[in-house]
Amino acid sequence: MSNSHAFILAKKYIPGGVNSPVRSFNAVNRTPFFTQKAQDCYLYDIEDNKYIDYVCSWGANIIGHANKDMVQAVQKAISNGCSFGTPTELETQLAQKICSLMPNIEKIRLVNSGTEAVMSAIRLARGFTKRKYIIKFNGCYHGHSDNMLVNAGSGAATFNNPSSSGVTQEAVSNTIVLEYNDVPALIGAFNQYGNQIAGVICEPFAGNMNLVFPSNEFIDILRELPKEHGALLIIDEVMTGFRVALGGAQSLLNINPDLTILGKVIGGGLPLAAFGGRADIMDCLSPIGNVYQAGTLSGNPVAVTCGLANLEIISSNGFYEHISTMTKALVNGLSEAAKMHNIPFCANSVGGLFGLHFQEKLPTNLLQVQRSNLEMFNSFFNQMLDNGVFFAPSMYEAGFICSKHTPKVIDETIQIAHRIFKNINSVEG
Ligand SMILES: *Cc1c(COP(=O)(O)O)cnc(C)c1O
Repeated sequence: MSNSHAFILAKKYIPGGVNSPVRSFNAVNRTPFFTQKAQDCYLYDIEDNKYIDYVCSWGANIIGHANKDMVQAVQKAISNGCSFGTPTELETQLAQKICSLMPNIEKIRLVNSGTEAVMSAIRLARGFTKRKYIIKFNGCYHGHSDNMLVNAGSGAATFNNPSSSGVTQEAVSNTIVLEYNDVPALIGAFNQYGNQIAGVICEPFAGNMNLVFPSNEFIDILRELPKEHGALLIIDEVMTGFRVALGGAQSLLNINPDLTILGKVIGGGLPLAAFGGRADIMDCLSPIGNVYQAGTLSGNPVAVTCGLANLEIISSNGFYEHISTMTKALVNGLSEAAKMHNIPFCANSVGGLFGLHFQEKLPTNLLQVQRSNLEMFNSFFNQMLDNGVFFAPSMYEAGFICSKHTPKVIDETIQIAHRIFKNINSVEG
């Protein structure tokens, strides 16, 4: 079947033909390709086209697709049964391993998605502090639980509007939205509502508005202010955890969150996520505490086995050096190519995470990200895809490298980009 036929059929039975909206390629005015299999850093669609993959299952894949050791571990696990509804030793092994890699996590609970982990952590923060407000930052994504689907209001008002139909005003009325990197706004919010703020949730490197780095001042204030006011610092590392470094962004930025959210890489591609942190906070969860949280498939043995195999591989010597080197080579090569053809462009990266911006200066918040040249991005995306290179199909998404991206693959990508920047330049010019 062709990609276009598969999409028509999918749309008949699945809203928009996809089970998560960004997969529809709506933002780049295109119909998606359907993947039949993947190996290392390549995806193969149902028409047998091969793509260099810079999406990597939205970051979940960091060891390359269909890694042999992982596949074997999962096959063995599944032959013992898919789910038991009792505890397994595997869960303790994974919990122990994560606690040792991330010392800020003293206890951890496993769930099935980043959304679920955030939702639970926020409930826990409110339950622990007995306070109601959560501060979040514009452009950071924390999954689609009701109280995180909120847009910044205009003007001085820090209270906001639901960003999705079906979310009530009440559901977001206890969420305060501030601009990323806006230190005075954060100080202002704490001055005004300090003793009612349960927690601040933040992406340590914001990877859901392309890629935006935190300023030093912003990180400094996040370290101090919540603590001073008895509020919790919740660092959402669903994207950055095990991607920017083995110890997560918190190890690079030297921050000690009270609660950490993990997802994506943690499961190596199977549905697995987690939230963890200070033992005194985590012990407020049921069955020992009063904050209710549960899940039929939480800590699923197959997913946990996959996560363990994945963690084993990424813990090997030199893993992150290789990934960082490849990521830097890619963004430097693309930047040089763009410059040569007078394309307004800049790029940033940390570990195996990168951002490509069609503007001269690195953005520091969502408003600045929105200034990138959308037409140029879309033209770049579409032409790269036509030439077998798959970048994220939206200007608002980051890019991902896995350990199977080699210097040769990166070079090939940069050569293709040269031709395409040249085309874009001649059309624009
Ligand atoms: C992807 C993501 C989530 C949501 O995770 P899901 O597994 O898609 O529910 C939450 N926070 C961040 C930072 C993410 O990147």
